Amino acid sequence: MKVTLVQGDITGQQVDAIVNAANSSLLGGGGVDGAIHRRGGPDILAACRHLRATTYPDGLPTGQAVATTAGRLPAHSVIHTAGPVYSTKEDRSPLLASCYRESLRVADELAATTVAFPAISTGIYRWPMRNAAHIAISTVRATPSQVHEVRFVLFGAEAYAVFEQVLGA
Ligand code: ADP
Repeated sequence: MKVTLVQGDITGQQVDAIVNAANSSLLGGGGVDGAIHRRGGPDILAACRHLRATTYPDGLPTGQAVATTAGRLPAHSVIHTAGPVYSTKEDRSPLLASCYRESLRVADELAATTVAFPAISTGIYRWPMRNAAHIAISTVRATPSQVHEVRFVLFGAEAYAVFEQVLGA
């Protein structure tokens, strides 16, 4: 598996699957989630509502992942994963690692070979970027899957620089 880094907007990535840093409600939010629903159009939200009405009546548990259509995005699928909110009182790293692992498991189910990830939990959920980058990179490297390319799409120059350092270390 090749791990690559891109600075930019994840909604423009031409990949088999885009991972959404969603929340448990699956019904939309800010950050990456808002951007994906805005650019992807209403079919994604309709698919999420269907999931809430069927498989996940109480929402998607933190650390798990589920796929929907990508609507009008230049990708085949969106894999929604619910990241943990950062806590100084409790180590939630296993849940953040689980988001990456479970997203790759879902990617395998979809036969997706190129997958774009945002830096899950580092926005509204306040996870420190460097630690999040360590967890992200070490987890995807340690997860066996059929995915050929994991592309981390970082929103700003700072986030990109941190991932570049961690990837090179
Ligand atoms: P979370 O709730 O998991 O923290 P956010 O969407 O708030 O999710 O933020 C996750 C990361 O994604 C942050 O580093 C944020 O700067 C970044 N981000 C926000 N919008 C985009 C986008 N369109 N493409 C890629 N990354 C984005």
